[in-house]
Amino acid sequence: MSSSPPADCLLCAAERLTSWHYEDEDCWVSDCVVCMTPMIVWRTHGLPDADHEAALLSHLHRVAVDRYGPDGYYVDGERRRIPDHWHAHARPAGGFFDPSSELYGRFRDDVSPRSG
Ligand SMILES: [Zn+2]
Ligand SMILES: [Zn+2]
Repeated sequence: MSSSPPADCLLCAAERLTSWHYEDEDCWVSDCVVCMTPMIVWRTHGLPDADHEAALLSHLHRVAVDRYGPDGYYVDGERRRIPDHWHAHARPAGGFFDPSSELYGRFRDDVSPRSG
């Protein structure tokens, strides 16, 4: 199945609404406009194969370690809002939103903490 990307795809639009931490010709890492955690986005509208995905995630890991420390985050690969355009979040360990985001305080109680 091949179809052109939807004109209204937010990830294809690649608007710089937040800070960008990394970019190359293949992908970029920026703060997610919704939850303010670092998010990597593939420039291609679609889903990469597993090897490619691992290579892309290495960029996200670098940004996340910088921000949260090596044990301070987990990668959330679930694409809730835009399932057909590959992206992944690095979330602070035990939380869903960045602690520096105002949303963190508001939503903290709704998110069950992870242990370990
Ligand atoms: Zn897209
Ligand atoms: Zn997000």
